[in-house]
Amino acid sequence: MDAIERMLTGYRAFRANMPVDHHERLSRLVKAGQSPQAAVIACSDSRVDPALVFSAEPGDIFMIRNVANLVPPMEEEGTFHGTSAALEFAVLGLNVPNIIVLGHAHCGGIHAMIRGAEVTKDGYKFVPAWVSMLSSAHRRVLATMPDASEEETQRACERNAVLVSLENLTTFPWIRERMSNRSLKLHGWFFDIETAQLEIYDAKTGGFEPVD
Ligand SMILES: [Zn+2]
Repeated sequence: MDAIERMLTGYRAFRANMPVDHHERLSRLVKAGQSPQAAVIACSDSRVDPALVFSAEPGDIFMIRNVANLVPPMEEEGTFHGTSAALEFAVLGLNVPNIIVLGHAHCGGIHAMIRGAEVTKDGYKFVPAWVSMLSSAHRRVLATMPDASEEETQRACERNAVLVSLENLTTFPWIRERMSNRSLKLHGWFFDIETAQLEIYDAKTGGFEPVD
């Protein structure tokens, strides 16, 4: 069975096995509209599916996925700001009370950032430009962990990418405003795809703590 056939078979199984309450939930969500309690910014990586990781139901998560789970800083110029548009919709349109940046281990986007100019040889144009927003975080990691192995450097960059996105979220005035009146909270999480371990960023310690 090829990949597309497998997807269609999966779709038929999804419809056939859909629990009654699931169907009712979807009908309610259509009538009342969605009211997700969190927007999650995750990587497009096929091994990190937030809906699976958090056992989420339809309506639970407003999902924003891109290469390396990045939030660009607020920019007035330019037209096609996909991630910023999704955030605007989540915050202004849906009033999500939580935004979670979900980083992950073994991220191809972060690896491309570490390889730097080398990836342009493979014909990449958009990925290097996109992940270049992590360049200063990468330099910081190299300066503070000069003896780290490649693997350790990559893990540190992946966790730092979460912090860069959290920082960039605060450049949007409607996010800052809602944070100050406590109607919106930001969260930095990190998922190790090999061990399926989730870690949560603790602003007090400045580290990521594993979740039991
Ligand atoms: Zn990734």
